Amino acid sequence: MSRIHVLSDLLVNKIAAGEVIERPSSVVKELVENSLDAGASRIEVHIEQGGRKLIRVVDDGAGMSAEDLQLCVHPHATSKINHEDDLFKIATMGFRGEALPSIGSVAQLKITSRPRDADAAHAIRVVGSRIEPPEVTHAAPGTSVEVRELFFNVPARQKFLRTPQTEMGHITEQLARMALVYPEVGFKLVHNGRAVHDLHATESMHRRITEFYGREIAEQLMHVDRDEHGFKIHGYIGYPAAGRTNTKWQYLFLNKRFIRDRFVGHAMREAYRGLIDPHRHPVAFLAMEIDPQEVDVNVHPTKVEVRWKDSGKVYSQVLSCLRERLLQTDLTPDLSTDRASEDDGDAEASDAEGSLGERQQRIRESIADFFKNARPVVGGGAGEGSSPGGSGGAAGLPYRGAASSTAYRSSPWEGLPASGGPSDEASASSIPMQPQERVPSDADLAALAESGQVLQVHRSYLVAETEDGLVIIDQHALHERIMFETLAAQIRSGPLESQRLLLPESMDVTPDQLEVIETHGETLKLMGFELTPFGPNAIGVHAVPSLLKADRVHDFLRDLLDRLAEQSGEVTQEMVTNDLISMMACKAAVKAGDSLTQEEIQALLARRQEVERSSNCPHGRPTSLRLTLRDLEKQFKRT
Ligand code: ADP
Ligand code: MG
Repeated sequence: MSRIHVLSDLLVNKIAAGEVIERPSSVVKELVENSLDAGASRIEVHIEQGGRKLIRVVDDGAGMSAEDLQLCVHPHATSKINHEDDLFKIATMGFRGEALPSIGSVAQLKITSRPRDADAAHAIRVVGSRIEPPEVTHAAPGTSVEVRELFFNVPARQKFLRTPQTEMGHITEQLARMALVYPEVGFKLVHNGRAVHDLHATESMHRRITEFYGREIAEQLMHVDRDEHGFKIHGYIGYPAAGRTNTKWQYLFLNKRFIRDRFVGHAMREAYRGLIDPHRHPVAFLAMEIDPQEVDVNVHPTKVEVRWKDSGKVYSQVLSCLRERLLQTDLTPDLSTDRASEDDGDAEASDAEGSLGERQQRIRESIADFFKNARPVVGGGAGEGSSPGGSGGAAGLPYRGAASSTAYRSSPWEGLPASGGPSDEASASSIPMQPQERVPSDADLAALAESGQVLQVHRSYLVAETEDGLVIIDQHALHERIMFETLAAQIRSGPLESQRLLLPESMDVTPDQLEVIETHGETLKLMGFELTPFGPNAIGVHAVPSLLKADRVHDFLRDLLDRLAEQSGEVTQEMVTNDLISMMACKAAVKAGDSLTQEEIQALLARRQEVERSSNCPHGRPTSLRLTLRDLEKQFKRT
């Protein structure tokens, strides 16, 4: 007698249900997807007790004949694919023919359907594995699927059901993920007889975002739209200031299906790099479209993961789309209030003004704080970042020439235009201003530096006059941004300059780190490292990037290996390189507390004009703050 036997249909269905039907919201997802595939223009979802008691989805789609009704509850019965080839051009939400039989195996299922051109409707019921023959009944064209007593025969799953409110939360979220990309379909969601959402067909995803997630989010979004190299992107991305602490607010859709994707995620992070706090993530609602042949959606039963044929293309398209949009929008913290009008003139633009106003308010407050806490004190006070620790040791930096030996000036006011001199307390504690003279524009900053009119305060900030006020620059943040852009440009044309060590140094490493060195050997070489195995738990360091200070190499290398070890699975070299460059830029840049020579200040400001996004450091902190005369006048109550 054989020990092996073929499983019964019920068991097979239950196993499938285990994968796709986790909770009531999964049922809603499967049923609404079926309605969308059937071309419905209006879909109603009725829920009782969080879906535990009843889930009913009613649509006005194509409907099913009596024969189809009988077939649709069998495993692997589908109208959506036929041949193996079809698997590689899937244009429907479903195709596995698993949902209805799975649901039928864990609940009481009743399906009533009437094709658009038929006079009569039919209904079938499935209880357990038993399929009852179809009966004639009355119903409007379309389909109604009723699911009662979910998990009545799966106590383990039933035990994990949460309160009706929690389950409704999940249901609403699932519905939103579909309604956002099907704005042309009307949706109604009813819980215990009360309408929770009643969404009319609309043109705009933005409306749906507002309806599901509220005005606050919706008002902080910019529109994006792009169609290049067979890759379409449409949707909304958040202002950097609206970043969130997790990636939940990144809604990605591929061919109208909600997905999670590492490549798109990385591209987004890269696009916002330097604009957003590194611990925050941009909000985004991106509907992407690509030829179905260029993507495999059959990776996982819930289809939330995809496999791209050309992930590099996806990465670069998303990156350039977002980056262009962000560059178009001036995100430099600024106190003038007419900035919002720079945004594009579409209907959503006016929505954005509120948030910009808030952002400016926040910036205004931070500048007010700046004046409160960091008033320049003659002779260098105890202000933040003014510790004299770093004696300017960032040797080898592009801005550190022979002149770097210049001694630290004892007074930060040295070299300041006479009008701002420290001779009396009152003028020292106010910001130097020369409104009577011709004042250079922001673009002339470099020239200003050349004439020695830029002031370093607390060995951390550079202050200069501009046409309409003044600008305060964080020297570390700006240098970091410049270093990042310089390194990025350099690495595009070849490995970074590397410095051989006289004697190789050994460094202890974990097996994880060793593996990283093997996998990312090429990238590490590109960065200027030469590393070789040195016994089982150590490596020999033979050469290091010239940019790094010798005494910082070990720490840097350790951080870097840890960072690489975190990057699990497939990541493109571009992503890794960008990550590493930003680490390197941070480590190599001048620090707060490093005193700068006039030449160095000049070099720094000259480069400021050249780099993209010089307004923020790679970690997202601003590099400069602008203060207009008008704001000063307001602060001093002169208006
Ligand atoms: P799949 O969607 O993967 O094909 P399902 O088990 O979800 O598998 O559905 C099986 C089949 O039943 C579908 O292929 C479709 O032909 C039919 N069907 C299901 N729901 C509907 C509906 N709401 N309207 C019309 N046909 C439907
Ligand atoms: Mg389906």
